[in-house]
Amino acid sequence: MNSEVTGLVDFHCHLDLYPDFEALIQECEEQQVFTLGVTTTPDAWPRNHALTKGTRHVRSALGIHPQLVASRPSEVEAWDRYLPEARYIGEVGLDSGPEHFNTLGAQKDVFAHVLERCARAGAKVLTVHSVRSATAVLDMLEEYAVTNNNRVVFHWFTGSAREAARAAELGCYFSVNEWMFKKESRRAVVAKLPVDRIITETDGPFTKTGDRPARPRDVSSAVDELCQLIRVGRSEMATTIRRNLRTLLTE
Ligand SMILES: [Zn+2]
Repeated sequence: MNSEVTGLVDFHCHLDLYPDFEALIQECEEQQVFTLGVTTTPDAWPRNHALTKGTRHVRSALGIHPQLVASRPSEVEAWDRYLPEARYIGEVGLDSGPEHFNTLGAQKDVFAHVLERCARAGAKVLTVHSVRSATAVLDMLEEYAVTNNNRVVFHWFTGSAREAARAAELGCYFSVNEWMFKKESRRAVVAKLPVDRIITETDGPFTKTGDRPARPRDVSSAVDELCQLIRVGRSEMATTIRRNLRTLLTE
């Protein structure tokens, strides 16, 4: 198989929201794309976990999405129940965008609960949503000292360079997608991220490649963008991302 395609990393993809969910897991296996399938509700965990736990390249994350928590408060119990089975946690976090700002109080209650439980359990890897709320997320990560014994990855980080520096200081990683390079101001923030903390993601199917939902293999576009931005060759960049993933999962 073409080495340009194998060994890619998509650390945030909603695999279970594709109509061909099961075939897509197989596709990630065949193309050797290391993929983290995130979920938006704990009810999705049992099936996601069952379908991926025996695979080489795909894992599932136990999520409770900030955009949905306010309408489904009872899901925290299910999330708690599955936590001991889950190494990866997400999608979790905060969203203060205009459509979700009114539920921020409830979002914070749920996220505080998630962080408190992760701090208590340890050895989890979280993929965190922080739309218009990077500082609030960072404050909460510090309050619950969650990075002392867990790893946190900021997914689709849109905060400032200063907030990024604070996250890096806390030991956080960043999963970067192609769409973070579309605006010059966003590219400038990505350019300042520590290279040894960068991995890649698609956030499919919420993003598109051409006129169809992005699939994990399309994460290669994010690698291309990083190559241009950091001015390194493609295989060096791909190797760096794999090494960062390995460090994230083993340190
Ligand atoms: Zn997502």
